[in-house]
Amino acid sequence: MNSLHKFHLNDQYVLLDRPSGAVHVVDPMIYDLIEEMQEKSKEDLVKAYKDRYPEEDLREAYDEVYKIKDMGLLFSEDDLELSAPYNEENTIKAMCLHVAHDCNLRCRYCFASQGAYDHDRLLMDEETGKAALDFLVAHSNHRINLEVDFFGGEPLMNFDLVKKLVAYGRSLEEKHNKHFRFTITTNGLLLDDDKIDFINEHMDNVVLSLDGRKEVHDKMRPTANGKGSFDLVVENFKKLVEKRKDKDYYIRGTFTNHNLDFSKDVKLFHDLGFEKTSMEPVVCEPEKEYAIREEHVDQILKEYEVLSALYLDIQKEDPDFLFFHFMVDLDQGPCMVKRSVGCGAGSEYCAVTPTGDVYPCHQFVGQDEFKLGDVFTGIENTDLVEDFKKANVFSKEDCGDCWAKYYCSGGCHANAYYANGSILKPHKIGCQLEKKRLEAAISILAKQGEN
Ligand code: SF4
Ligand code: SF4
Repeated sequence: MNSLHKFHLNDQYVLLDRPSGAVHVVDPMIYDLIEEMQEKSKEDLVKAYKDRYPEEDLREAYDEVYKIKDMGLLFSEDDLELSAPYNEENTIKAMCLHVAHDCNLRCRYCFASQGAYDHDRLLMDEETGKAALDFLVAHSNHRINLEVDFFGGEPLMNFDLVKKLVAYGRSLEEKHNKHFRFTITTNGLLLDDDKIDFINEHMDNVVLSLDGRKEVHDKMRPTANGKGSFDLVVENFKKLVEKRKDKDYYIRGTFTNHNLDFSKDVKLFHDLGFEKTSMEPVVCEPEKEYAIREEHVDQILKEYEVLSALYLDIQKEDPDFLFFHFMVDLDQGPCMVKRSVGCGAGSEYCAVTPTGDVYPCHQFVGQDEFKLGDVFTGIENTDLVEDFKKANVFSKEDCGDCWAKYYCSGGCHANAYYANGSILKPHKIGCQLEKKRLEAAISILAKQGEN
């Protein structure tokens, strides 16, 4: 199986050896001849290309390439497999807590049907919230650090509960030897000074939903009475971020086929003073008029290239500027479970609804066949948990020969399910985008390594 992937981006000629994860920045000659080097002897290579390249350079390059091969970092065999069963103890370490299935925006693309997840609008009560945290502690086994994301709908619509649950979580920590890391994901409309101060004191991370340019944001994210929300939320987000100092946050945008030039939106984030950014493709049925479809893919791939060049430019002036999808860990370590299993949805990660029902992640909430159990009686659908645990790059046929598999770890199960009806069948468009983002990220690291 060919384990080599090569690409040229941001003036970098890159070779990637899939099994070892090694990345090599090479000169154009090696880039040009690498496949032939794999197949031919040194003398055959020299004979074939001596009219195009100096003989000495060819010999030197060939020796260099084979030195790297002997170190196991090029042309290596992809005979990897899972070294240990994944999450045998069924440890849950992260929870998306849906404190409000209601929202004060009416985002057109909302996967949560404007906050209600295809069910009645509902706020979580205190008993259920506390039971959810107890459930997490009870299923966390040896794990000390636990992640809880206050999510919605719009969690600020149930902010008193958020405050109570933060206090309740803290009260559990010493007794159970746990530490909660809290995050909140908000559209920002209800932020005021008190909420900002509470969030900045108690939330380890904040995800702020903003789609970029005013016309883009207002078109897709109107308020319940049909007005645009951009002006209101930008002011609130600026205030929050300014007061937040060095604590984590990020701006999370969504692009649709209306803003395939989304690098302009990311640039606007930076112009507005936001340094931690992300921009994700909309997830929705292909027949929606704003959906990302096959005919948009070429333009999106080019846009990631534009964005990677812009990213390098901005980073020269502002090294703290980040784009979430360009943060790739090239030194992932040898842990094959970590490299092949992905997000952990349905196993290490779950989502809990206002009534206490447990789902594999927020994207499956409301799909009755994906209900795992509830926080009062526990996990009942253990077969489904096993299905999620087994969904990895070795069980997903399409991932088998994919150069990106040990970085992508098999993609998003929800995207796969909604596109193809199976968590084992990756979403083709998602894969194309993921691979381009990885190339962009690796080329950025290579370029930065030059300086
Ligand atoms: S990009 Fe697609 S095919 Fe490749 S590893 Fe990820 S999910 Fe699998
Ligand atoms: S399945 Fe997809 S949406 Fe759900 S947690 Fe995993 S990556 Fe995120």
